[in-house]
Amino acid sequence: MRREKIYEGPPLTHDESVRIWRWERRMLVFYTAAMLAICGSILLMAYHGDQQPVRLGIIAMILALAVVGWVIQFRERCPRCNAQLGRQARVLLPVKCKNCGVPFPRPQDQE
Ligand SMILES: [Zn+2]
Repeated sequence: MRREKIYEGPPLTHDESVRIWRWERRMLVFYTAAMLAICGSILLMAYHGDQQPVRLGIIAMILALAVVGWVIQFRERCPRCNAQLGRQARVLLPVKCKNCGVPFPRPQDQE
């Protein structure tokens, strides 16, 4: 039987939890924007896909989105154990760190 890891260190400070939840919100905004951009380029391809500059522009944009998404995803780390949060969740933050078990409480006063 695998037991849940129990975290015994200090909980996250207010600033630390605000920071990781801000990261989650940025990820959500980025993925939404990326989806819209990809839908837009599919439409563009459908009407102007025979033009070389359109095709190149769309490929460049998708590559840029992939790089930016990768950078945003792996930039944020657990404030306690320094594990990369992007490895634990694709977009949404887990309820606690899967490496050290520190809970990620949602801040009460979200701006
Ligand atoms: Zn951790």
